Amino acid sequence: MRARIVVLTLVACGLAPSLLPAQQTGLGNHVDGLVNRQIDSLVATYKNLHSNPELSGHEEKTSAFVANQLQSLGYSVTERVGKYSRPEWVGYGVVGVLKNGSGPTVLVRTELDALPVEEKTGLPYASKVRTKDDSGQDVGVMHACGHDVHITSLLGTAKTLVELKDRWHGTLLLIGQPAEEAIGGAKAMLDDGLYTRFPRPDYALALHDSNDLEAGKVGYSSGYALASSTSVDIIIRGIGGHGSRPESTKDPIVVAAQVILALQTIVSREKPAQDPAVVTVGSIHGGTKHNIIPDEVRLQLTVRAYQEETRQKILASIDRITKGIAAAAGIPEDRAPIVKVSATEYTPATYNNPELTRRVMDSLEKALGAANVVEVPPIMASEDFGNFGLSGQIPTLIFWLGAVDAAALAKSKQTGVPLPSLHSSLFAPLPEPTLRTGVKAMTVAVLELMGGKASRQSAVGSRQ
Ligand SMILES: [Zn+2]
Ligand SMILES: [Zn+2]
Repeated sequence: MRARIVVLTLVACGLAPSLLPAQQTGLGNHVDGLVNRQIDSLVATYKNLHSNPELSGHEEKTSAFVANQLQSLGYSVTERVGKYSRPEWVGYGVVGVLKNGSGPTVLVRTELDALPVEEKTGLPYASKVRTKDDSGQDVGVMHACGHDVHITSLLGTAKTLVELKDRWHGTLLLIGQPAEEAIGGAKAMLDDGLYTRFPRPDYALALHDSNDLEAGKVGYSSGYALASSTSVDIIIRGIGGHGSRPESTKDPIVVAAQVILALQTIVSREKPAQDPAVVTVGSIHGGTKHNIIPDEVRLQLTVRAYQEETRQKILASIDRITKGIAAAAGIPEDRAPIVKVSATEYTPATYNNPELTRRVMDSLEKALGAANVVEVPPIMASEDFGNFGLSGQIPTLIFWLGAVDAAALAKSKQTGVPLPSLHSSLFAPLPEPTLRTGVKAMTVAVLELMGGKASRQSAVGSRQ
């Protein structure tokens, strides 16, 4: 998201717009009016959520609040949707369904969870919450990824779409997803029957705030938008001994050092440069003392890629290189490295269906103004939103919501000093303009997909 933003100017070439600009502008103005009426309450909701964050897997109050709000708007609400691989974890997913005649089913997602970060923004509504994390450590808690922006935008969209019920037909599926930061909440909801107990969506939409876009703008990537993420654990087993007598050992620390450097050749030498990927060794632990050669060294890796085939090749290369270097060092077969690809710490790449992206962005350009809709490069960060697409069976789209002050961003680009990023203890989105655009953009996106011809004509007719 730090990368340069490319303003796309030739967006609508050759595509038949689904609405005439004047009509869509009218709709945009109408949505503005509805958002205006609720903006004070949205900002209050946002500040309240911001002051009361909950960690991944512990979203009890947040989910109850979302459920309550959706219920009061007339949605049929189910709570505690989510089944994790560890049965003791409670799934705090919320599903709100609003049926409004026949038409497509559209899913809109917000995440519910916050991060173990001690807030240092100094804002009057800053979080002062502290809690114990799952390992028993005392931590501060903060909505440092802006999921409170997303929750509030979803609630504003929920209300606006109720007020615009004569303009769309179909089934709206609004979901509050737990444990996005822990990568597991989307899968937990699907594993708990999200698409069997509730209507299966024809489209899935989400937004995410950005510290690299001005409030009032949205950004998008067509095709791959975020990478897949896979955790890999490696145990390099050697034969320990006295630090003064390496000849009587097989030193796993030296092998680990060679493995780490050799792993860097996977991205640089084993795949085409046009196909991005990352292999990062984020953790290395081995040994206890200066003069002891240990028995083993443990590495923790994250692997990022867009294409599934590339991901599989990288994982195979990690296994081959690690075992090959150990063998070259003379480590016996029965002490070969253990390379374990995590089954749970994995999320697929997030793919923005190009046709869906084009359709929604065309409608957003008309509603927000073309200058406020910008194409941005894809990033190697990950999201578990991609799960909702069931490997391409359901078209998905996540877009970026500008959340920072335009002047501050311009200054940061000029000076090269970056603004506080997502997950920073200083990340402070601008509430009002961000929420206005979040609600408007998501409302317009849903109307584009659900505002079938009949409802458009009657809406246009009613104004004539
Ligand atoms: Zn995050
Ligand atoms: Zn996030």
